[in-house]
Amino acid sequence: MESLLEIHNLKTYFYTENGEVPAVDGVSITIKKGETLGIVGESGSGKSVTALTAMRLSQGKVMGGSVRFKGIDLLTLSDEEMRKIRGKEVAMIFQEPMTSLNPVFTIGNQIIEAIQIHTDVSKSKAKQRAIELLSQVGIPRPERIVNEYPHRLSGGMRQRVMIAMAMACNPSLLIADEPTTALDVTIQAQILDLMRDLKKNHNTAIMMITHDLGVVAETCDRVCVMYGGKVVEEGDVQEIFNNPKHPYTQGLLKSVPTLLDSEEQTRLYSIEGNVPIPGSLQHGCYFAPRCEYAMDICRAEVPEFKEAEPGHSYRCWLHEFDERGDLDVKNLVKST
Ligand code: SF4
Repeated sequence: MESLLEIHNLKTYFYTENGEVPAVDGVSITIKKGETLGIVGESGSGKSVTALTAMRLSQGKVMGGSVRFKGIDLLTLSDEEMRKIRGKEVAMIFQEPMTSLNPVFTIGNQIIEAIQIHTDVSKSKAKQRAIELLSQVGIPRPERIVNEYPHRLSGGMRQRVMIAMAMACNPSLLIADEPTTALDVTIQAQILDLMRDLKKNHNTAIMMITHDLGVVAETCDRVCVMYGGKVVEEGDVQEIFNNPKHPYTQGLLKSVPTLLDSEEQTRLYSIEGNVPIPGSLQHGCYFAPRCEYAMDICRAEVPEFKEAEPGHSYRCWLHEFDERGDLDVKNLVKST
């Protein structure tokens, strides 16, 4: 499959009173045409800043790397050229749609504007198209809703409107940042279904940013696990779920509640400790303070990101034992 978005060795730093904070620290990610890539990690792992930097919307300073979309380096485009790509080629939806919807314009006006910015159609044709799109995303009585203001709709309806706006321009890539986190479970399932339809019917690639491995399991082809501004594990979803290599990924998977848990366990597993404050750790593996397998070398040197099997890579000193066969990592790292 052809690459659509290639992020290579991206570094985004913030400058605070306490000094330089590397929020994104050498991230490389590729999304192929029509695929859904999940980016998972706890808050502060750098997943949203990676996406915002790629779209030139981050407040941080880009310290290195490249972002190529359809072969064009986005970091070198003018603001005007970048605006043309956002919205037409790449659409974005966020956890809280009200951050993107303008409260003083009707739903219809906002979808019509999105259509007219990128296509040469009359206002009446654009309004007709807006009604069709609202109908396609399952909004009842779209002829009426098109004249409503965003605050009159529920959170789930507003997220449907955002997906309708994304569909308006038939983008090649949809960046969805925690799109279902604020919604209840039933509505969440409906929104994920809509995104699957978007991918199936328009071959839209999706970057799904989430802390929820259930969302990844349901929607993604591949997954990148981020920690402390770095990618620590990447691979096909099935492979990562069945054979996680990095202790952090293992911990995330163990934290997912299952029916078995409710019968056999009274307490849900959680990874001890907190995500490090960006910039607070200077040496070694950033996960070391929370890792039960941490060795001296882990605190001294950052492990390389290495391929364990074709299409499955991870960043952990345990891979040295894995390669030499000294130690069976699957036994060392307790099963999830
Ligand atoms: Fe744990 Fe060391 Fe691997 Fe980091 S490098 S995850 S501290 S074993």
